[in-house]
Amino acid sequence: MFPRIDLHTHSSCSDGVLTPAELVARAALRQVELLALTDHDTLDGCAAARQACERSGVGFVAGVELTCGWRERVIHIVGLGIDEGDSALRTHCAAVLESRRMRITAIAQRLSVAGLPGEVLAASALRAVSPTRTHIARALHQSGAADSVQRAFDKWLQRGRPGYVAAQWPDLPSVVRQITQAGGIAVLAHPHRYRVSHGVLRELVAEFKSAGGAGIEVSLAGMSPADAERAASLARRFTLAGSIGSDFHEPDLPWRPVGRFAKLPDGVTPITEHLP
Ligand code: MN
Ligand code: MN
Ligand code: MN
Repeated sequence: MFPRIDLHTHSSCSDGVLTPAELVARAALRQVELLALTDHDTLDGCAAARQACERSGVGFVAGVELTCGWRERVIHIVGLGIDEGDSALRTHCAAVLESRRMRITAIAQRLSVAGLPGEVLAASALRAVSPTRTHIARALHQSGAADSVQRAFDKWLQRGRPGYVAAQWPDLPSVVRQITQAGGIAVLAHPHRYRVSHGVLRELVAEFKSAGGAGIEVSLAGMSPADAERAASLARRFTLAGSIGSDFHEPDLPWRPVGRFAKLPDGVTPITEHLP
């Protein structure tokens, strides 16, 4: 029997729609035994999530999903088991959140120039601790400016579109260092989502490993069997532990039933063996 674990989730502190307590209630209902909250570039939800987990008997792992740049691409690194009070990590997050707010404000201005109500569209993003473009994409979809959240990105927010604003992110080694120096383990998030060749993905994983990375997501909701096998072979090749999660953002999108994504491929060490 595999433990029911979910080490990648989001709350309304970033671009999830449930509060940390609501997220924990849902996880408890799904009989999750070990849950990590991994909001984008913020630890703010961890205290509330920890309290809610204690009340409902769910094991809690303090986490974060940090954004970094690598060769002109945006890469996500999940930190697990971090010390929420670590001041260097808090300073890092505060700087990233400030640049996120500035980017959202610039996007709103551009959308206004394009004839859309930019301030209204940016309002929900700017209410979140960690404002993201997903907030704006949802608002664009809800306002009828696009017929899905993905279409909102494609039509308004991607490079070359009216609301595109470039971003500068911290580099990969510094982000991995922030996590490890805060007592956490760094996990390369959703390797199947980076649109790179196998060779470039191997180079990314090699650099991640030499920077101090310890894990890779090998079982994530939405991964095809081929994606999962590729991630597992990277885990084995680079001696990285395997992590498991849903990347849950909202109940309207199905949360893959726990236990279905809780299987680890053969020959991959579970990340839980590295957690304190
Ligand atoms: Mn997200
Ligand atoms: Mn991500
Ligand atoms: Mn995520």
